[in-house]
Amino acid sequence: MLIFQNVEIRYKSGNVAVSNINFKVDKGEFIYIVGPSGAGKSSLLKAIFKEVEPSKGEIFLLDKNITRVKRRQIPYLRRQVGVVFQDFRLLEEKNVYENVAFALRVIGASRKEIKTKVVDVLETVGLSKKLKRYPNQLSGGEQQRVALARALVNKPELIVCDEPTGNLDPNTSDEIMEILNKINLRGTTVIMATHAKEIVNKYKKRVIAVQDGSIVRDDIEGGYSDVL
Ligand code: ADP
Ligand code: ADP
Repeated sequence: MLIFQNVEIRYKSGNVAVSNINFKVDKGEFIYIVGPSGAGKSSLLKAIFKEVEPSKGEIFLLDKNITRVKRRQIPYLRRQVGVVFQDFRLLEEKNVYENVAFALRVIGASRKEIKTKVVDVLETVGLSKKLKRYPNQLSGGEQQRVALARALVNKPELIVCDEPTGNLDPNTSDEIMEILNKINLRGTTVIMATHAKEIVNKYKKRVIAVQDGSIVRDDIEGGYSDVL
C-alpha cells in the first residue's frame, strides 16, 4: 500500500534529512519508525502526507505515484491518510464533537452523516461521554484520543502518527496504544514514529530504524534496545 523508492528529502536550507530510503508497507501492517532525534523520522512521515516533497525518488500510496501529485489533489490524498502529532493540534475554541466533525464539514458531508460518523468514532476512542468538553478541559491522553478520532473519522486506509505518546505518561500511552492496536486489527495500516523504547518493546511490531537519514534496520517484531 506504500512504497518508498530511493527517496531523498532535501530542505531548502540544503539540509539532506534522509537519502536512499527504500521500504514497502503492506496493507494492515503496524510499523514503528525509531531512531534518535534528527534522524529523519518526521521528514519521512511528512513525505507521506505531502508536507514535504522528495528531492529524489518516488513514493507510491495505494498504487498511485504521489511524488508529483498536483496541489489541488492533496486534499483528496489527505483523506486517505489520517495524521496524529505529539502535540495533539486540536482547535481550542471547538469542543470535542466539533473538533472531529470539522474534518467532515470541510469535505461537505451532510449533517446526518457527520453525526453518525462522529458518534461512532468517539465511541471507538472511548470519549462518548465528553462530546461537549473543550480541549483545555481534557487530560493529555483524552486530547490525544480526540486527535485520533479526528484522524480516523474519514476511515483512512493509513494512519501516520508522529510521537503520539511523546507528551503522555506510561499509563496514558498504553491507552493510546490499545486504540491504535484496535483500529489496526480492523484493517487500518499504522505507521508510528517514536522514541518510546518501552512501547516498542512491549507491543512488538515491525521496526524500521533510522539513523543519520538512512534506514539501518528493518525487522519484523524487532525491539528497541538493539537498534543503535
Ligand atoms: P526526527 O523526526 O528523526 O527528529 P527530522 O525528520 O525532524 O528528524 O529531521 C531530520 C533532519 O532534517 C535534521 O537534521 C533536521 O534538522 C532537518 N530538518 C527538519 N526539518 C527541516 C526544515 N524544515 N528545514 C531544514 N532542515 C530540516
Ligand atoms: P518534530 O521532530 O517534533 O517533528 P520538527 O519536524 O518541527 O519537529 O523539527 C524537527 C527537527 O528539524 C528539529 O531538530 C528542528 O530544529 C529542525 N528544523 C525544523 N525546522 C527547521 C528549519 N526550518 N531549518 C532547520 N532545521 C529545522
